[in-house]
Amino acid sequence: MLKVTIDLEAIRHNYRFLGSICGSQMMPVVKADAYGHGLVRVALALASEGAEAFAVGTVDEGLGLREHLHEADIYSLMGPVWDEDYQKLTNSGITSFIHSWEQLKRLAQEIPKEDIIEIGIKFDTGMSRLGFEPGDAGKLCDFFNDNSRLRLKIISSHLAFADDPRMAHQVGEQVEILDGVSRIFAQAGLKHKKSLANSAAILHSPGAWSDIVRPGIALYGGNPFTGTSCEEKGLYLKQAMKVRAPVLSVHNLPKGRGISYGLTFTAPRDMRVAIIGCGYAHNYSRSLSNRAWMLYKDRRLPVIGRVCMQLTAVDASCVPLIKPGDEVFILGGNGNSSIEVHELSAWWKTVSYEVLCLLGKNEKTYINS
Ligand SMILES: *Cc1c(COP(=O)(O)O)cnc(C)c1O
Repeated sequence: MLKVTIDLEAIRHNYRFLGSICGSQMMPVVKADAYGHGLVRVALALASEGAEAFAVGTVDEGLGLREHLHEADIYSLMGPVWDEDYQKLTNSGITSFIHSWEQLKRLAQEIPKEDIIEIGIKFDTGMSRLGFEPGDAGKLCDFFNDNSRLRLKIISSHLAFADDPRMAHQVGEQVEILDGVSRIFAQAGLKHKKSLANSAAILHSPGAWSDIVRPGIALYGGNPFTGTSCEEKGLYLKQAMKVRAPVLSVHNLPKGRGISYGLTFTAPRDMRVAIIGCGYAHNYSRSLSNRAWMLYKDRRLPVIGRVCMQLTAVDASCVPLIKPGDEVFILGGNGNSSIEVHELSAWWKTVSYEVLCLLGKNEKTYINS
């Protein structure tokens, strides 16, 4: 029932903006269906803007994109995970980031004798999530020199604190660790590119740019610095996603009456309420109950009572002309009162990334292709 609109020109604008800040090659991150914006449409829009490298989340996403982009460098941030992924990688032209010895050794066994594949190596330089230890660099050099059918193309790591201006020293430490690894590879004669920066680091940590940067959230218009001292760095970004929902019914709610499951909201005065066709079945979280706002023309209407599976109530007392068949924005809008993704994510008690991924699972249409 929700209608998601993706403005591809906003995404191209954000790409150009990031390119004007940082001269490194860009590898737009289009994992998780381009953060809900649609993998293929977003990647094609960015390719038309000059992007030649893309980071998908999985081998399958990479194969899907390869059908549309024959020439681009496609990187899979996660390497082979399921048994079948190893075979799928062969001849795919996808560069997988490998994070463990098990993956690496199995890949060496499974690629056909006549094949050569290029891979990336992911290092854990401080996030303790996925990746080789920096101390593995020497053994990795030996491995590559013994297994010439696996060719090292790029080394990478991910920053834990790029979006927190108070933690610049942490970013610096991770940069140094990856530089150290890079030197070891270079001394062993293994040419490679290096990549570390996400959106926040592109905007604020030039020391982390190196060869290729990996912008994600900023491409979609999310400002990684909202609420910090660096907020202005992301103010030129344009939010690409808008989400509308239909008004199903409008009626009075007399003073003292409760509304929705559990009657968690009681009318403090005579009110007019609108029932909106939107709920957690559309990934509009139940945690927005009694917390969020929706936009009707230029007025914001508070959500009252619990968000249900497909229905949510708002206080529409201030907009007497609202009627069934109208629509409200739950994200975005036209004009100054437009709901920004950082606002919706704060009401939702999460981050913009999650809001975009989840709402983007609804039916999408594209403008400014
Ligand atoms: C998601 C992701 C990115 C992009 O991060 P943003 O904060 O969205 O810019 C970059 N690198 C890796 C490894 C990622 O998983």
